[in-house]
Amino acid sequence: MQRQRLTILGSTGSIGTSTLDIVRQFPERFHVTALSCRNRVRELAEQIQEFRPQMVCVGTAEQAQWLVDHIVQEDLQVVYGEDGLVHVAAEAESDLVVAGIVGAAGLRSTYAAVEAGRNIALANKETMVLAGELILSKAASTGSIILPVDSEHNAIFQSLVGHRSEDIEKIILTASGGPFRDTPFSEFSKITLQDALRHPNWEMGNKITIDSATMMNKGLEVIEARWLFDLPVKQIEVVIHRESIVHSLVAYSDGSFIAQLGLPDMRTPIAYCLAYPERVPLRVPKLNLAEIGKLHFEPVVPEKYPCLELAMQAAHCGGAAPAVLNGANEAVVEAYLQGQIHFLDISRILKAVMKHYVNQSDSLKILSFSDAVREDVPNAIRSIDDALLADQWGRQQAAGLLQ
Ligand code: MG
Repeated sequence: MQRQRLTILGSTGSIGTSTLDIVRQFPERFHVTALSCRNRVRELAEQIQEFRPQMVCVGTAEQAQWLVDHIVQEDLQVVYGEDGLVHVAAEAESDLVVAGIVGAAGLRSTYAAVEAGRNIALANKETMVLAGELILSKAASTGSIILPVDSEHNAIFQSLVGHRSEDIEKIILTASGGPFRDTPFSEFSKITLQDALRHPNWEMGNKITIDSATMMNKGLEVIEARWLFDLPVKQIEVVIHRESIVHSLVAYSDGSFIAQLGLPDMRTPIAYCLAYPERVPLRVPKLNLAEIGKLHFEPVVPEKYPCLELAMQAAHCGGAAPAVLNGANEAVVEAYLQGQIHFLDISRILKAVMKHYVNQSDSLKILSFSDAVREDVPNAIRSIDDALLADQWGRQQAAGLLQ
């Protein structure tokens, strides 16, 4: 069997290192041809030595030079910056591009891979949040297949196999509830950054861990699901499930609920995408139901998680609203991680940005959309530039309020 060639964007992050662990387990099956990282160049150098890719991308020219000076692999092509990333995504010899970059920073490269007709294992949810409709129509025209890595979407994807989409009543995304699921709202004013970074079930990067604490992560996932599974927001529900064993469910019209279960380990959904439609005998800790004993489900308390509501509203509103919210959230979470604001300020600032967006959306349209001179000014994302402009507008508004 021909080994599957993999491009891994964001190879030193949480998704990237999990993917490489799978490659390490199945060297006869997978083979890395390209890697990228933004900052951790020393880790990337170790990955290059182990996996011998043909092409790598780093953040800056200086980092690229450092790699060239330190790596003795003659045929290695080193590129850098966003252009380099787009080049790697579209040009590296590859059967599957693992899009593991966090945030809006992953949008252009993911789009470039879709444009080039590459199959994608999509972990970068912002791609769908910022430009879901655009990405899907491009994928339909180039034949690019998008496989969802995000554990919830991967679970839904698996639960849809063999079923007709017209029989779906709703999909239910499970949420751990993050570190504050048992904290009464009255005590939220005492939350510290260290508390927020302590996720009960998953080990992830800092940005997504904070998004889990606010449940913005779940909100972005609702938007992602809306596009990936082509369902209106009203057919998407969120339930708190503290064990993170049921990764999500599909409810069908005859009363059947189909779910995917497993221990919270990202290697399982990543391996499903890598081997799709087959499965590999992955060495991961396996679920023991008798040991788990009980599974709990409870409703979301809206007052504790205003960010979820904001994202649902943005999803409902459509157009540029999700991109604006995402940009603002990335700026605000960054400020929070740097200790500039309190946990409760995250949702306060985002609410203010979205309120301003709704009031100002006419002027935003004129600022943002290339064809704003037309009479029917679109409140839609028609290009990657539109998506990034809307995201940028959200960031700027948040930055103004952070001052
Ligand atoms: Mg998830």
